[in-house]
Amino acid sequence: MLSIKNLNAWYGESHVLHGVNLDVKRGELVTILGRNGAGKTTTLRAIMGIMDKRSGSIRLNDQETVGMAPHRIPRLGVVYCPEERAVFRSLSVTENLMLPPKLAQGGMSLDEIYTLFPNLRERSASSGGNLSGGEQQMLAIARILRTGAQLILLDEPTEGLAPVIVQQIGQAIRTLKERGFTIVLVEQNFRFATKVADRHYVMEHGCVVDQLSADEARLDPARIARRLGV
Ligand code: ATP
Repeated sequence: MLSIKNLNAWYGESHVLHGVNLDVKRGELVTILGRNGAGKTTTLRAIMGIMDKRSGSIRLNDQETVGMAPHRIPRLGVVYCPEERAVFRSLSVTENLMLPPKLAQGGMSLDEIYTLFPNLRERSASSGGNLSGGEQQMLAIARILRTGAQLILLDEPTEGLAPVIVQQIGQAIRTLKERGFTIVLVEQNFRFATKVADRHYVMEHGCVVDQLSADEARLDPARIARRLGV
């Protein structure tokens, strides 16, 4: 579904990604792990085309997207959920969910979304600003399901959340996988990542330095922990 070959990317003159290779099959849940500044967010931004310059190849559903205008890329069925969550604070949960247009066939109805996230249904009339951090994260994830995108890029959804909420986010992400979505998850929380993912990529200094299956990560956690410095 996603095939990245020898990807280089720049912020202005600053060369940040150096030959990244990464493949994600349909239905897979893959994480990108690494320390602060390793290039994880930049990789997601590069997939969305929101970098000053990119070279190499990023194929989405067999279509080359390097060189494509950024506004065309979401139409190929990919959506990005940034770390900032960007929930509209003065709008209700329902209004937040109604905002994204359906870009493709398969965008979920409000009712389907509320069936998937029952706690959001309970809070449907509350304003975004009155939700807890965990509820805001759920809403940010739920909102992207409106778009009908099949490939979801999630940037550190557990950042700053209490352990019990992290568990709920994990359950929501597993549910999305069961529903057939393909997910790329950027994480610093290694324990969380190993609980949900099929495979892991590890980044350092703008390069992929290791990749391993969920089983390999479970059998040899030190292999990743060393890289993350945890
Ligand atoms: P983090 O968890 O801190 O977001 P990350 O692995 O996602 O880490 P990136 O945000 O992709 O890292 O950053 C990779 C490199 O690009 C870092 O050296 C960072 O300083 C640099 N960088 C990030 N954003 C910009 C920007 N807007 N302009 C210039 N350089 C940037």
